[in-house]
Amino acid sequence: MYLVSACLAGINCKYDGENNYNEDIMELVKKGEAILICPEQLGGLATPRFPSEVSMQNGERKVINNHGEDVTKNYERGAQEALELGKRLNIKKAILKAKSPSCGCGLIYDGTFSKKKIEGNGVTAQLLLDNGFEVFNEENFKKGIIKKNSSSHY
Ligand code: SF4
Repeated sequence: MYLVSACLAGINCKYDGENNYNEDIMELVKKGEAILICPEQLGGLATPRFPSEVSMQNGERKVINNHGEDVTKNYERGAQEALELGKRLNIKKAILKAKSPSCGCGLIYDGTFSKKKIEGNGVTAQLLLDNGFEVFNEENFKKGIIKKNSSSHY
């Protein structure tokens, strides 16, 4: 069972009111293996909403939208909600949308709204990693599944 970014299953929760539908993810949903979450909505943000990016300010991680508003608290609340749900359901794996300021894992936008990417994690991805989750994205999760299935633990 995975926590899964809801936009990957076609839910229109993306900042622009659209989604990031992915057929492979939909297969997981149909098999009952996905619990859908949208941390930005769980954190109280509206849809549509202004796009945001993670940026470091005086050594502190902030999430700022493209109107200069600090939405860090919403992102942190959404991350906490996702973590608590994972804990309640005893889930330790997640498939999260690549490059999102909430869900991105490994690579995110650099905070300048110039489409430049840097190494880093979205707020939810980071909290889940810090709590022992394995975090995949829609591009690499199949490799993760194959790797796991062929390991000696299975
Ligand atoms: Fe998708 Fe995550 Fe953004 Fe929600 S917060 S729209 S689930 S990438």
